[in-house]
Amino acid sequence: MLRPLLYKDLNESQRELRRKSLDFLGYAVLFSQLMALMYVYIYVNFLRYGVLMRLEWRLRYRILGGKTPIRGGVQSVGAAAVYWAWVGLMVWLCVKDVEHDYLHLTKAFGMAAAASLPLNVLLGMKYSPLKLVFPNFSYEGPVNVVHQWLGNQIYLLLTVHVCLYLKFFWDTSRMKTRLLETDVLCGVCAFSIMTTLVTSAHPLVRKFFYSVFYNFHIILSVLLPPLLYFHVSHSRPYIIPTVGMLIVDRVLRVMFTMSTTATISLDPQSSILDISVSFPHKPPPPAGSHILLNVPSLSLWTKNPFTVVESGNGHVRIAARAQGNITKKLTRVTKVPVNIESGYGGHGVNKELVDGVDRVLLIAGGIGGTFTLPWARFLKANDVDARFLWAVPKVGDLLWAGDGVALAEVYITGGHENNEDEEGMELLDASSSRDALSVPPLSFISGRPDIRKAIREVVGRDGRVLIMVCGPVLMAEDVKNAVRSHVLTGRNVTLHMEVFGH
Ligand SMILES: Cc1cc2nc3c(=O)[nH]c(=O)nc-3n(C[C@H](O)[C@H](O)[C@H](O)COP(=O)(O)OP(=O)(O)OC[C@H]3O[C@@H](n4cnc5c(N)ncnc54)[C@H](O)[C@@H]3O)c2cc1C
Repeated sequence: MLRPLLYKDLNESQRELRRKSLDFLGYAVLFSQLMALMYVYIYVNFLRYGVLMRLEWRLRYRILGGKTPIRGGVQSVGAAAVYWAWVGLMVWLCVKDVEHDYLHLTKAFGMAAAASLPLNVLLGMKYSPLKLVFPNFSYEGPVNVVHQWLGNQIYLLLTVHVCLYLKFFWDTSRMKTRLLETDVLCGVCAFSIMTTLVTSAHPLVRKFFYSVFYNFHIILSVLLPPLLYFHVSHSRPYIIPTVGMLIVDRVLRVMFTMSTTATISLDPQSSILDISVSFPHKPPPPAGSHILLNVPSLSLWTKNPFTVVESGNGHVRIAARAQGNITKKLTRVTKVPVNIESGYGGHGVNKELVDGVDRVLLIAGGIGGTFTLPWARFLKANDVDARFLWAVPKVGDLLWAGDGVALAEVYITGGHENNEDEEGMELLDASSSRDALSVPPLSFISGRPDIRKAIREVVGRDGRVLIMVCGPVLMAEDVKNAVRSHVLTGRNVTLHMEVFGH
């Protein structure tokens, strides 16, 4: 049905038929998305145990056994299967009714890309209704990863669409005429914008120039819909809801943003900022949840995510490691007006996640303690059997935690910030002293925690186990691998990974 591809001269009714077929392709893409979402919902809420759970863990096996995970990358067997199955489905939908018509194929790729846009915006929204469907996904992590995958696939479809059209214009000597007409110009501009968006979203750009990625995303994603709207009328049923969702997201973000004041102090030993934010007019978000912090005097747009360590009496407390752009600038201020966006994923400590759980193992690396410490406090207050391992490079990194340290088995891994070895924790050099702490920890050990052993011990007894980890990516990876081996032998273990960044 595909080859040979011909530039067909269609009459009116044939064009009408092609139009109908392309419209149907758009509906088929939407229907596939709906089915996929329903499937994930049913799986996550009702089927994720027993054989299926074990299969999921088998599919989480890392491709090529690579040691360094790339955030948002397709790196496990399961992720690759889902990613390429979706690409395959899109390509099949594009080619299946082509009937040797070159322009049909060309337009089909554009249509599939347009029909994928609303879902991609839905996945990227900070207040996405999808969070109601998947309530246990703290923060936006996994949803955002799918947003990145789908964004790449849309770009792939558009690239094929553009290349096929260029060939058509070239072969029919229309390069000089069509490329200057408004509809094609809009398409070219939209494709250039997509290219900039995809390039700026590359993990390396995100890592080193986050504000460039962030600002491009905010500004360019607003320019894209009008250009696509004027590019071709048939994509409008997808562009209009896309714009609607972008507007709703922005409005909700403004509604959930509160202007207030932050009081900041810096611990020079650890370069960790202790930030206290007052919530005079509304209840503060719970400990363990995440907020976005914007300091207009330092940067108009940028919003950085942090975790609420303590909450109450109209205040929240945040501990932030000073490392990059905004956090370094914050070291120079003591009191500053801020905008806080709360309700940003992360449900905070609550009973729901530990319902029916017999034992909990908390594992934190460095500043990841901001997430695990509220949980350690909560579990102790609720008499849940819990163990808390906390590895930090030096004792100074624990000072912000105050008496919370008493709940942890502390591991001092050494003080060289940039000396990360391949397992993601710093090398052993425990010259720090426990005397600096206001209360003694449960135990105080030089070196790394033996994650495999700790997991073996907690999983070894009967009952349901929850393991929560927040730390360097490679530490989380070690935990995942250790948990994997127990799940595959049929143990009842749930893993909750909190990743600071995406
Ligand atoms: C849900 C969550 C909770 C976090 N909680 C804490 C915490 O309690 N304490 C702490 O010290 N750090 C926390 N972080 C990490 C913290 O957000 C970054 O270290 C901080 O934003 C870096 O800002 P910067 O000014 O130093 O550098 P920047 O140059 O502004 O950013 C450096 C890196 O920070 C990350 N980052 C910045 N903004 C965002 C954003 N809007 N979304 C996702 N990632 C972003 C990116 O990986 C970026 O490459 C958390 C991150 C996330 C995603």
